Amino acid sequence: MAETKEFQTESKELLNLMINSIYTNKEIFLRELISNASDAIDKYKYLSLTKSDKYPSGDYEIRIDINKEERIITISDNGIGMSKADLVNNLGTIARSGSKDFVKKFKEAKDSQDLNIIGQFGVGFYSAFMVAKKVEVETRSLDVKNGYKFESDGKDTYTISEIDKENHGTSIKIYLKDDTDEENYSSYLENYMIEDLVKRYSDYIRYPIKMLEISKKPKLDSEGKEIEGEEEEVKEDKTLNSMIPLWKKNKKDVTDEELNTFYRSKFNDYEDPFTSLFITVDGVVSYNALIYIPKHAPYNLYSDTYEKGLDLYSKGIFIKEKCKELVPDYLKFIKGVVDSDDFSLNISREMLQNSPVLRRINDNIEKKVVDKLKEIKENDFDKYLEFFRVFGDHIKFGIYSTYGMKKEMLQDLLVFNSLNNEKPISLKQYKENLKENQKYIYYASGKTLESIKMLPQIEKYKSEGIDVLLLDKNIDEFALEMMRDYDKTEFKNISQEASNELSEDEKKNLDILVAENKRILDNIQEALKGKVDSVTFSTKLVDSPVCITTKDGLSLNMENVLDEESKLQGGYSDETTPKATKVLEINPNHELFKAIQTLQDDDAEIQKYGSILYDEAMMLEGYDIKDKKEFVTKLNELMIKALKK
Ligand code: ADP
Repeated sequence: MAETKEFQTESKELLNLMINSIYTNKEIFLRELISNASDAIDKYKYLSLTKSDKYPSGDYEIRIDINKEERIITISDNGIGMSKADLVNNLGTIARSGSKDFVKKFKEAKDSQDLNIIGQFGVGFYSAFMVAKKVEVETRSLDVKNGYKFESDGKDTYTISEIDKENHGTSIKIYLKDDTDEENYSSYLENYMIEDLVKRYSDYIRYPIKMLEISKKPKLDSEGKEIEGEEEEVKEDKTLNSMIPLWKKNKKDVTDEELNTFYRSKFNDYEDPFTSLFITVDGVVSYNALIYIPKHAPYNLYSDTYEKGLDLYSKGIFIKEKCKELVPDYLKFIKGVVDSDDFSLNISREMLQNSPVLRRINDNIEKKVVDKLKEIKENDFDKYLEFFRVFGDHIKFGIYSTYGMKKEMLQDLLVFNSLNNEKPISLKQYKENLKENQKYIYYASGKTLESIKMLPQIEKYKSEGIDVLLLDKNIDEFALEMMRDYDKTEFKNISQEASNELSEDEKKNLDILVAENKRILDNIQEALKGKVDSVTFSTKLVDSPVCITTKDGLSLNMENVLDEESKLQGGYSDETTPKATKVLEINPNHELFKAIQTLQDDDAEIQKYGSILYDEAMMLEGYDIKDKKEFVTKLNELMIKALKK
């Protein structure tokens, strides 16, 4: 008895998008269905290899049948099949959050370029409705007697009924839409078209994709001899794909175009990868791998739904999708497949987790990816910058999250913007341009490059031509803190209080200056109780009257970043996050300070100016003035006084 059910709401939305799709690349439906068929055979084959008594191995194949008269394309497999519940859960529902995201993105998409996201999301089975007015799925899962048929026109409902089906597996019938002015659906009924699509998108599929072909052959007589001049039509199965996984081919026989096509279809990307690595290792551990670095971040890279990992095969047999043990966290954006002969198919999840073989492969791939990036950086710096713009923070995260253990390996991949250079530079480049007597690699940090360049404490470096790295990413400073130095030259935040950088003479002069102006400094300190740790004179300011520096430990920017993260996680930043120890530094040569000196003994007035100077300095650091009312009141008082004079 047929049961009619309603598609889940999100499925309806997605189906509606498919049915009315103006997406030009409708042909991908075939790739998606073949890929599902191949996955289903993978699953069966895995069972048959691990529980051979129950599940005999068979002649695995994917078939494509074309019925021109009725305009039907059928794609069948002898894979694992689906139970009734599977049909409801897999085809009546969108289980994958990726598809849900897709619906959202699709609705936002405006131009056709955006519509390409369809490929990126790999909407799978539903893509059939781009070309079908009706889809029928006949399937039988293992260990059951009956099969089930799923039928739908993709509009709101589907029906499921019990059917007789001899073998396990699935066949999907696509009833093609009628041709329109824009779309010639009938072209999918042509053998050459199907053959072309299989070659283009599914050549690497490891099971034969077969189709009946009609060809003319010389007619044979009763003795099997060719009869001259007479031909007959014969129907023969033709295998359309080469079946050799790309990674098992000889490296030199594989073109970049093949690598890219494989990447796009396997990992659902509409763009070619940034770069690819074809790895063949014969050693303590032997494996083949194809590793890809995408051009752009996968759409969900920063969400919890993202799963890192490489697809794992053993002797060409699929074992596990997105095997996370093969990729270090900081390289989670890489995609690829690994095929190794060095472990058995029966390997359990737990064993995978602790497998020394996988760890070795992981280390090896990590090293190869890093080396490849270094090579690109050396040979084509502009291209490297494209990579770094997208994934640079991950490299920094690699240094930070391993407490600097990967410093040696990763430090030469870092590039930063800097005061003296238009383009980002590497640490090596920075070091090559150190000024005489320059002991440190200087950096300044903040929210944006513009705001960092406006920091008062950068003035001295500007005037002396000393380069300063400009760190505008949250992770930057934390990564450098972990590194401490590059090639034995320490990093130094220019906003860090610098008394230990002074010469003996400079120190002496500073002490004298502080002693002479003790009353002013004490008063300002009094006004800023709880806000700054101390008030002193600056050796870095040129044009500005004041700036904020911090003592050893957290910088203002780091305090800020920790604060933001804590807020993001719902914490109360002011109470829980660590704080920077602030110092207000005054420019003793600035007119403003000289004017304050004329106030002589007016403690209250000095304190008022001190408080405004602090707010001014914090503002230049990119902060909001905390007590705006108080600031405005004080400013007004001062203006009134100045104007009345
Ligand atoms: P995806 O393949 O990305 O998971 P699909 O929408 O293409 O998404 O398919 C949804 C699910 O339906 C699959 O995960 C699989 O469980 C099941 N399925 C699809 N096609 C087949 C098939 N030919 N044989 C068995 N199961 C299938």
